Amino acid sequence: MNERRVDADDARRLFAQACSFVAAAVEPKALPPPTLPEVAFAGRSNVGKSSLINALVGHKGLARASKTPGATKTVNFFDLGGRLMLVDLPGYGYAQVGRARVREWTRLAHDYLRGRQKLRRICLLIDARVGLKDSDEETMKRLDEAAVSFQVVLTKADELSPADLVAVIESVRVAAAKHVAAHPEIIATSSHDGTGIEGLRCALAALAAPDQSRYSPRP
Ligand code: GDP
Repeated sequence: MNERRVDADDARRLFAQACSFVAAAVEPKALPPPTLPEVAFAGRSNVGKSSLINALVGHKGLARASKTPGATKTVNFFDLGGRLMLVDLPGYGYAQVGRARVREWTRLAHDYLRGRQKLRRICLLIDARVGLKDSDEETMKRLDEAAVSFQVVLTKADELSPADLVAVIESVRVAAAKHVAAHPEIIATSSHDGTGIEGLRCALAALAAPDQSRYSPRP
């Protein structure tokens, strides 16, 4: 996987770009053509996925605007500055209905994941207060099978004491390390107080297409 070196300024510039809704796909033929490198966000419902996407791009209503509870689940695409496609995958339900929901999610997401050449990484969101559930383990297995690189991103870090957060990071790190497709770095974030948002921006900016305007020859 090609990761460019980026510094915090590069990442800030990228995430200061306009981010616009491109498409909401319910079926494979509605998927937009893969023109840009893509990063997809997955996690259980209520994990804080919309909040995190909105915090990353500094746009409060973006991910929520296309999210209607109970509506048909869609794969939503957002173009960030013409350099990176952010892809919002459907949430996969609560623990009580874990396996059935994971199967449903797998069906929905499978068409997206299968052969999506520009998919660079899945951010697998885990609620720091809850830790890993069976449905998350199932998802990690699916991503191993699909050979899709994923990075665990903890959400709602503001809800934990520093010591508890360290303990969760460590236990998730050990669990994720058992999966071949797991990226070794775990990022703890909070959409509420901004913890980890810069770090995640840097990790994602490394996967974006280069900023052409910075390399074009001066007139
Ligand atoms: P989604 O279903 O995964 O898109 O989750 P949402 O972004 O809609 O968030 C679900 C709930 O978690 C909402 O009540 C949010 O206010 C809350 N939430 C989201 N992010 C954070 C966070 O960083 N910290 C805390 N404390 N709560 C959060």
